[in-house]
This record gives sequence, structure tokens and C-alpha cells, in this order.
Amino acid sequence: MNISVVGGGPSGMMAAHGLAESGYSVDVYEENSQVGIPCHCTGLVTKVLWDLIPRQHNLILNELKGVCVHAPNGKEVTIPLQEFVLDRAGLDKFLADRAVKAGVNLHTEHRFLQFEGKDTVFKFKNDSVKKHSNIVIGADGARSAVGKAAGLLNRRKYYFGIQVTGTGKFDPDIFHVWFGKVCPDFFAWVVPESSTVARVGIASQHQPQRFFEPFMQKHVKTVLSYQGGPIPSFCEMSHVGGSDPRVYLVGDAGGLVKNTTGGGIITGMLSGKLCADAITNEKNYETLLKPLTKELWIHQKLRDTMNKFDDEDHNRLIMSLQDEKVKGILSSHPREYPSKFLFKLLLAKPTLTQFMKHLF
Ligand SMILES: Cc1cc2nc3c(=O)[nH]c(=O)nc-3n(C[C@H](O)[C@H](O)[C@H](O)COP(=O)(O)OP(=O)(O)OC[C@H]3O[C@@H](n4cnc5c(N)ncnc54)[C@H](O)[C@@H]3O)c2cc1C
Repeated sequence: MNISVVGGGPSGMMAAHGLAESGYSVDVYEENSQVGIPCHCTGLVTKVLWDLIPRQHNLILNELKGVCVHAPNGKEVTIPLQEFVLDRAGLDKFLADRAVKAGVNLHTEHRFLQFEGKDTVFKFKNDSVKKHSNIVIGADGARSAVGKAAGLLNRRKYYFGIQVTGTGKFDPDIFHVWFGKVCPDFFAWVVPESSTVARVGIASQHQPQRFFEPFMQKHVKTVLSYQGGPIPSFCEMSHVGGSDPRVYLVGDAGGLVKNTTGGGIITGMLSGKLCADAITNEKNYETLLKPLTKELWIHQKLRDTMNKFDDEDHNRLIMSLQDEKVKGILSSHPREYPSKFLFKLLLAKPTLTQFMKHLF
């Protein structure tokens, strides 16, 4: 049986690697000439990444010790957290090299165009190339052409992230996030690579450039490079497999991101792993994904709630984070699994329930 994976990012390479290890013939088709380039990501991850791959010291550009959360009224709270700033292109290359070692055939400069009967059509240089495959895994990112061709993207909404890597003066141990008027429907961030270089960005559904420019001017002395791109919004109604049983979606293609942060590296990799498991062991992929989609559903509800906040709500919520018990709970639970700490938070700080009114 031949399996085609469209997209050579982390989600696709996790699926490809797992399938090749199980003995399948796997081809990965990537539209760019090198995996991981251009980069469109901040590369911030929790230690949950090391549950999926062995810890790669050479991919860690900076190890952070905490997050400073800024409220619209100018107050701030710092919470101890262990996070990693990755060489994101390096991560993609590491996963691609590992997949190729396991037997995956990587075809760069192949852009998925469409399905034609049982064939999958790619553009390679100026030609169109037809491939026959029994299964096609769409791992082609937020705007997934595979998902679109399979009719799976109908309800999708997007945020747009804009970021620069730039020079300035930064505390290398702490990353910062700003909520409220700086970027009303998401947040703004400064994630240091070192004391002199940071990744500075915002994401928003509407006019991200308008919020980005003043924020960037404030924090960056010299721009070294630009990154950016669409971030899909997870929706409980999304599907990762459709009426065509050949097609599966993983990672951003399947909308499998945390709506609170826009983070999708770990959740995408996990979905790739589960997709390989589903195919290998003839299990239902959507069923295997349930524990993950349950967590993403919670992130979705939290995002929906926060998007109804005014600045006063943000001020009150951020000030509740000063509570030492709250800090302790947030420090010791990775954000990938909110079901494991949400009730603990509500028990530790019952006033947090006041924000639940925004859910309805
Ligand atoms: C500004 C910004 C900052 C972010 N910061 C973080 C962060 O700090 N932490 C985090 O966890 N997440 C972050 N994300 C999200 C994260 O980048 C994605 O969730 C992650 O890259 C998803 O991996 P993926 O493999 O599913 O998709 P991608 O990494 O997007 O990979 C898709 C691959 O498919 C290829 N492709 C696309 N179309 C085709 C086609 N038609 N044919 C062939 N190949 C194709 C692309 O070239 C790409 O290589 C950020 C996103 C943005 C926009």
C-alpha cells in the first residue's frame, strides 16, 4: 500500500515517520525546495514536545523560566514556566531527516494541485505530475489544499500572525504577552532568543498590521527578518476525514491548534502520530484524536470567552493570576492539557467563575 503525505512540516513528518516504521511505502510531497524554510512560527513549546521526540539540545535556542502577562491597565504578573524557544526550521529538518532514515521518500518542489479520480496531481517545476496512492494525508498547513479538495474546510476561521525577529534589549529568561487593546481579539508577544534578539509579534482576525506596527516599533530596534501566516481556529465541528476514506488531515490542515495561544506544533505532531497509528492498526482516526480534541475544545471555549472580554475583564483576570496557588497550578501543568488543571484553578480561586458568564 502506498501512502502520500502532502506537506513536510512537523505534523506530516510525524505521520510519515510512524508509517514508514510500520513498513508502509510513504512519499512526502513538499512544495518548497527545503523543509522548514520559509519559517512562519515563533517556535515556542512546552516540555510536552519531549514526550514526542527525544530532547534535541541543538534545537533549543533558549530555555525560558517564566511568562510575564501584561494587563491593559499597565500592571503585570510573572508566572514561572519552563518553555523552549526552538530553531523551528531545525525542528522541521530534524523530523524530515528522521523520516527519510526510516525509509520515507521526500519529494521537494511538489505542490499538491487536486485529486483526479484515483490520482493525486502535483505541480513539479512546470509540469503536472500524477501519483496514485491508496491514502493521502493532508499535512499542508492552515489553508490545506488537500482539505479544500476533500471538502473539509468549509467552516474554518483564521487568525493572522505577524512577527519579526529583531534586535533590542530583552530579559533572556522571560517571555511577555499583552492582552486587551494592544491586540483585542488575541494577544501580542515578545519571545527572547537571547538578551539582544527576540521574536516579536501579534495575531488577530482583523487588520493585524494595524496592531502590529506600533507594537513592533515599541519593542524592536532593528528588524532581522519577517515571519507570519494564517493560524486556523479549531472548531469542534471540523472534520479530519471525510466522505473520501482515502483522505486524512493532520496538524494545521485539520485545524488542530490551541485557540488560546495559536500554538500547533505539539498538537500537530501528536495528530500525525495518531494518524499513523490509526492507519497501521486499522483504527478510527477521529476516535483516536478524541482525547486531543477534548483539550482543544476547552481551548476553543476559553478563547470564545476571552474574546468577549473588555479591558476591565482582562485587568481582573490577570490580577487573579497573582495568587500564589494559581501560579503554582499554572507552573506545574503544561497548557496542552487544560482539562487537568481548570477545575483545580476554579477551586483555588472561585472568583474565576465570574468570567464564565461570557461563555453564554
Ligand atoms: C506567526 C506564527 C507564530 C506561531 N508560533 C507558534 C509557537 O510559538 N508555537 C506553536 O506551537 N505554534 C506556533 N504557530 C503555529 C505553528 O506554526 C503551526 O501550528 C505548525 O507549523 C503546524 O505544523 P504543520 O506541520 O501542521 O503545518 P506547517 O508547519 O504549516 O507545514 C505545512 C507544510 O506543507 C507545505 N505545503 C503547503 N501547501 C502545500 C501544497 N499545496 N503542496 C505541498 N506542500 C504544501 C508547506 O510548505 C509546509 O512545509 C505559529 C504560527 C504563526 C503563523
